[in-house]
Formats: sequence, structure tokens, C-alpha cells
Amino acid sequence: MGGRKFELEIPHDEKMEKREKKHKKKSRLEETPIGEVEKVSKMEKKEKKKKEKKRSIEESELSPSTASGSEEKKKRKTEEHKEKDEEVLDETKTVTVSGNNTSDSKYAPLTSFSQANLPEKVLQCCQNFTKPSPIQSHAWPFLLNGRDFIGIAATGSGKTIAFGVPALMHILNKKESKKAVPRCLVLSPTRELAQQISDVLSEAGSACGVKSVCLYGGTSKGPQISALRSGVDIVIGTPGRMKDMIEMGECILKDVSFVVLDEADRMLDLGFEPEVRAILSQTCSVRQMVMFSATWPLAVHQLAQEFMDPNPVKVAVGSEDLSANHDVMQIVEVLDERSRDERLFALLEKYHQSRRNRVLVFVLYKKEASRVELMLQRKGWKAVSIHGDKAQHARTEALSLFKEGTSPLLIATDVAARGLDIPDVEVVINYSFPLTTEDYVHRIGRTGRAGKKGVAHTFFTQANKGLSGELVNVLREAGQVVPASLTKFGTHVKKKESKLYGAHFKEITADAPKSTKITFADSDED
Ligand code: AMP
Repeated sequence: MGGRKFELEIPHDEKMEKREKKHKKKSRLEETPIGEVEKVSKMEKKEKKKKEKKRSIEESELSPSTASGSEEKKKRKTEEHKEKDEEVLDETKTVTVSGNNTSDSKYAPLTSFSQANLPEKVLQCCQNFTKPSPIQSHAWPFLLNGRDFIGIAATGSGKTIAFGVPALMHILNKKESKKAVPRCLVLSPTRELAQQISDVLSEAGSACGVKSVCLYGGTSKGPQISALRSGVDIVIGTPGRMKDMIEMGECILKDVSFVVLDEADRMLDLGFEPEVRAILSQTCSVRQMVMFSATWPLAVHQLAQEFMDPNPVKVAVGSEDLSANHDVMQIVEVLDERSRDERLFALLEKYHQSRRNRVLVFVLYKKEASRVELMLQRKGWKAVSIHGDKAQHARTEALSLFKEGTSPLLIATDVAARGLDIPDVEVVINYSFPLTTEDYVHRIGRTGRAGKKGVAHTFFTQANKGLSGELVNVLREAGQVVPASLTKFGTHVKKKESKLYGAHFKEITADAPKSTKITFADSDED
């Protein structure tokens, strides 16, 4: 599997950039990534309405209620899910569907969960949601019909349920009464994401007797081996630990016929391609493949071509515009992943010396938010967090503590922070770089509002190098300093389908050179 790293890149060229921006809209309609673009649906912007609704929800959360305890709880739960819905069901996003034969009526996007005609026990995991999120509504018809599927959607779009429910159906259709064997495999690049997926699938599976296990490094193998031995239907894990378990003979994947590669771009950026290939080779040759990726670089496309059906479906969910707020001073610091904690402490001493100004720290995953919050509290900082694992009342409380200044330091994931109108944030710190440059622009836009100036300080690590070209362009466009340590990752924008730069897509032959593994001294895996 060796060979040199192959990345087809486009040199940074101002004229080309302008041209691409100009034709961005046009090319989105004309691009033919895998097959013919058959549907492009754009939903109306409802920001104002959403904000008003959100405000009224928050007000009712905070106001004293005359309702009885259980009524209040019920109301709170409904409101919690209403707000979650608004975040995930972001209707301002464009959905692009491409691939062969995608316009057949059986693949029409769902407008309700009941339309999917699935057993109640399988749909139980969706009972608190009002309707399918865009990625769910488009993915289910294809996945439930056995099609290979590529989803270009970031964490926070509802993608776990988008592949989780079809995975449950796949397992239930094959399940025999004897001991469970792994029939579904989910590979994730990081431990935190693997755990997050595992939490969702375990809960969804418990309603229909589907068991799962999460295999990830940095923790004892014993309980994971016990779970595998007692029989599981779904194996979720990070590539390193998963490969270990296979080599130990504890994880047998020969019956796996539903495979999900989550955050495929990140997985390849972290150099896990050899492990991914090795693991895939252990699964059943007749299988349904699902791939989720926040971006669509060449290496991911190549992997898709190799392991997927020749006619996979590709559904891309993404926002349209990308241009950073020029009132924000953007500082990008390239550093080693391990030194982020120390740097965060130092930055807080610098930016949050008064302990009174509002500082917003962004992380990627819910588990990461809890970890960073705890770490800062232990160091004596008055930090609170908002993330999807927190109940709404806890999120509302954290937010009001942040707003009123009792805890002016807030740790947030993109999902939880989406749509929140937080006034007077002086500094945004990106502890983890987001999965897309669009999310970066969205995050830093939390400061520099209402005519004020803001600062956005961003940690950028080797794992984010795939986004360096786009980030350089965002910085340049806003007239910001581009550090040399960032340009060393490349000032080019990868040849890929990009919402900012349009589609520069070309089919890649299966014999194109393969990328090689990058070895990190501080690898997240064992
Ligand atoms: P994911 O992209 O899987 O990380 O999902 C992010 C969040 O979306 C989770 O907190 C889910 O509970 C929530 N979610 C998933 N599906 C829906 C839906 N149809 N409506 C509202 N929220 C959802």
C-alpha cells in the first residue's frame, strides 16, 4: 500500500479564485461529481423567525412557572427538543444530490419519520425530534434500499441517526435468534467521536435488541473484549484499537455487511488509510458502504471509488456563503496537539485576565467540551459549557451565567452554539479547529458584533492540514496575517468539491497512487 502521498492541488491564484467565486452558484448546478446532478433543493432562509422562536423558548425556560413539577418537566423536554430541532434542521443549507438513478420516486426525500414506514421500536430514537434532518431525509430512502452512500455533512447535522437507523434495519433483517455477531461496523477517527456515536447507537439499539460495543485506545481492552465475547451486532471504533482487536482474534468482522466510515477526510488526514484498508478487507465482500465526510478531497474520493459500488449516491449538505467578519482580528497558531492545554491556560491569562470579559472557547465534540470544562475548573477558572449532551435547562443556565457575567468563560461545541445570539464576546478561542472552513467563519463571527472589534485565536494542528489552503484564503480575504507555519502546510486549495471554490471535479482512476500513513509521535491510538 506504500507509495508517495498523492494530492492533486490547485495553485493559489487570485484570478482563479475570483472566477470561481463568481461562478460558484453556477458550477454547483453544473457539477457532475459522480454522475448527473439530479436534484438541487434550496430551502428558504428563516433566520429571523428562528431567532424569535428561540428567544421565546429561552424566556419561557427562565420564567417562573405555575405549572406542576411533571408538567414543567414535560414542557421543558418539549422545548429542549424544539430548540435542538432548529439547530439540526437548519433549513438555510443547500442540499445537493448526485449519482445515478437518484430521481426515482422511491428515493424521494422524507418529510416525516412515519413516511419511512419503519417499525416503532426502530423509530423510538427519533421520538423527540419533530422531523428528519436534511441529511436524514435524503439518506434514509437510499440506505434503506441498500444503496452505497456518500454524505458530505459535518458532525451536528444529525448524521449518526442518518446512518444509525438504516444500520438497525439492516441488522434486524439479518438477525437470527442465536448469539449476536458483528454485522455493522462504524469507523471513526477519534475516540471522542467514537464514544459519541456509540452512545447514540447503544440507546437506539436498546429499544430493538441490538447490542453494540465501542473499541478505542487509551483505555483497558478487558471490558471491550468481554463485550465482544458476549456477542454484539454493531462494532464502533477507532482504527488503531480496532486493528489490534482484529489481530488478537477478538474482533471478527466476516459477517459485517454494513460499513460506515465516519469523518473519512479526517481519518485519512490522520494517516489511518492503511488501517482502514486492512479493516475493510476483513468485512464481508458483499456489503453496503456508507461514507461521511465534512469535505471531499481527492484521497477520500479515491477510497470511495475503490471500496464502493460504482454508482454510489452522494448527498452534500452545506451552507452557501463564506466570508469572515473583517472586524475580527484572526490569529492562527500552529502547534502540536499535546501542547494545546498549556497554551489555552496561557491564552486565558492573556485574554481573560480581568475574569470579567466574555471568552468563548470552541471544541469539536461533546465529550471534549466536558473534558475542557472540567480541566479549566480544576485550574480555578469559572468555566461553563454548552453541548448536546447537556439537558436544555443546564444549557440555558450555562448560557445565562455566561451572559450575566457570573461565568464569563464558555466552552461550546458547534452544534450547541449554532444560532445562539451571545452579546459582547471579546475573544473566541478555537481549541479544536472545526471540520470545515465554513464552521471556522461561523465560529469567529461570534465576536466582533454590533460594530465592536473582536479577537479570534485559533489552534491549528497537523491533523487540520487538509484545510490550510482554505484557511489561508479566508485570512487573506480579510487582510489578516498569514503565519509562515500555516503556509508550510500548503497555500493551495485541494482539488475537491468546495462550497467556497465551486467544483473542480474529475474522476480519478483506481490505479492512482495511494497516500501513505503519516506517523505521529503522539498518536491518539494504540
Ligand atoms: P450528529 O450529526 O449525529 O452528531 O447529531 C447532532 C445532534 O443532532 C445530536 O444532538 C442529535 O440528538 C440531534 N439530532 C439528530 N437528528 C435530529 C433531528 N431529526 N431533529 C433534531 N435534532 C436531531
